[in-house]
Amino acid sequence: MRVSKLFMPTLREVPSEAETVSHQLMLRAALIRKLASGVYNFLPLGLRVLRKIEEVVRQEMNREGAQEILCSALLPSELWKESGRWEVFGPEMFKLIDRNDREFCLGPTHEEIFTDIIRNEIKSYKDMPLNLYQIQTKYRDERRPRFGVMRSREFIMKDAYSFDTSWEGLDESFNKMYRAYNKIFERCGLDFKAVEADTGAMGGTGSMEFMVKSDIGEAEVVFCTSCDYAANVEKAPTFEAEILSSEDMKNIEKVETPNVRTIEELVKFFNTTSEKFAKTLIYKADDKVVAVMVRGDRDVNETKVINQLKCINFEMADAETVKRVTGADVGFAGPIGIKVDELLIDYEVKNTKNMIVGANETGYHIINANFGRDFNGIVGDFRNITQGDRCPKCGGSITINRGIEVGHIFKLGTKYSEKMNATFVDEKGEQKPIIMGCYGIGINRTMAAIIEQNHDEKGIIWPISIAPYKVIVVPVAMKDDEQVKVAEEIYNKLNDMGVETLIDDRDERAGVKFNDADLIGIPIRITVGKKIKDGIVEFKLRNSSEVIDIKVEDIYNRVL
Ligand code: ATP
Ligand code: MG
Ligand code: MG
Ligand code: MG
Repeated sequence: MRVSKLFMPTLREVPSEAETVSHQLMLRAALIRKLASGVYNFLPLGLRVLRKIEEVVRQEMNREGAQEILCSALLPSELWKESGRWEVFGPEMFKLIDRNDREFCLGPTHEEIFTDIIRNEIKSYKDMPLNLYQIQTKYRDERRPRFGVMRSREFIMKDAYSFDTSWEGLDESFNKMYRAYNKIFERCGLDFKAVEADTGAMGGTGSMEFMVKSDIGEAEVVFCTSCDYAANVEKAPTFEAEILSSEDMKNIEKVETPNVRTIEELVKFFNTTSEKFAKTLIYKADDKVVAVMVRGDRDVNETKVINQLKCINFEMADAETVKRVTGADVGFAGPIGIKVDELLIDYEVKNTKNMIVGANETGYHIINANFGRDFNGIVGDFRNITQGDRCPKCGGSITINRGIEVGHIFKLGTKYSEKMNATFVDEKGEQKPIIMGCYGIGINRTMAAIIEQNHDEKGIIWPISIAPYKVIVVPVAMKDDEQVKVAEEIYNKLNDMGVETLIDDRDERAGVKFNDADLIGIPIRITVGKKIKDGIVEFKLRNSSEVIDIKVEDIYNRVL
């Protein structure tokens, strides 16, 4: 591409509306222009980078066996009403009405749509595992659009959804995405960390956010200085109390659990607790919480409630495990979970150290829960972890840094498949809900994050993998026929070799050209100046200040 023809309206001045470096540079380097609050247009260079990031994402997704599809962004309300999210999303959802008074929204995410696709097509366990993804525009009416495309109201997301027949299968699908995400963000040249997001019920790895370290990040991430613990502070539990000692537990054994002793009382408890925590039981002894039992039904998702407890280091226990540790037959979905509650009380009194918390459904029992380490105080009484707290995992000291959430992987389980009746027939001929995961990457946010981490005072420093062009050839004096001729030759040959190359053929001073080349961040600059009469050009990398004289014929090996 010729810079003289390229639509690249770069700006000298720092735009006053842009607070962050990436936002400023995206405007100055002519990658984007603003259309409305939180709504942006992409110009040629910006679009090229977007496409490069998408390509990296696509390659790594495909490598893990995911298949690309494309859904509409215009979505009928019915599916969202089925899942209950038509209301839950609130004002963040762009809703609209068509000429026939049918309600639609502009998709903020696509769980319902993928679940719908699958429930119509998948019948048997033989059709899974399956992972489908798309790279598509999302709409969220963010309360506070900020920092350009970092938090915008229209953005491109890669969203993937996995479908499995078993929890082990889900783990495998999740691990594949974990692997793909690490590769993607590495290839994007990012300094990032996968951190625990949604701990609690799903255990330590049920949800992970990929955080790019940055002071402008809106998320706070806690890191342990002694172990590998890293989590979003919103999700990290505080660590105030000691783990209950066996001695303590012996005392508890003697104390009657005050609230609930009988099934009648249990039922009463359910009926009298507040709406919000209606399905959460808290067992106290000596003013300490000794056990928490969460129970869900069609309206209450146990996972969500357990998350509210900010539990951590909990393990999901399946029915077999619960049976093994309690010696009792559990793991069924009883009417209100009375059986499990009896067992819970039983177990709590019988055992000295670990407790079971959980709900009356298979896969929702949690073993090895400890007061203090895992939860403390009463539901709703939690604060975020802060500097000075101890690591919830090892008790070591922590640091808190800011991060940009560029990706998020999540084990959904049967949340959507149950609500939307997406089932399959297993080997034994039984109808079962499909087990799902979802996996998102913000493409334009990733682009902004790359700039935050890769720039200097002159402009962007694109990692070569996603640069809009790899090389820029700069003839110093357009009036010098030989310089122009050689520059054109180099430009043509590099393009013929498949190296994406620009030539700055504008009749401008070399300084202007260098400034633009630095601003737009092209990784390799080849300057054709006076030394060309000796067959020499200058070779310079954007991320180094070193200027190297090389022979024209040596360029081609060097660039590859
Ligand atoms: P945030 O916490 O920043 O609001 P989120 O948790 O709501 O993000 P997800 O629903 O997990 O976002 O969506 C997956 C990915 O989409 C995010 O990890 C992020 O990279 C991207 N994303 C989400 N909201 C926006 C936005 N408003 N603008 C740009 N990218 C976004
Ligand atoms: Mg959000
Ligand atoms: Mg988030
Ligand atoms: Mg998220």
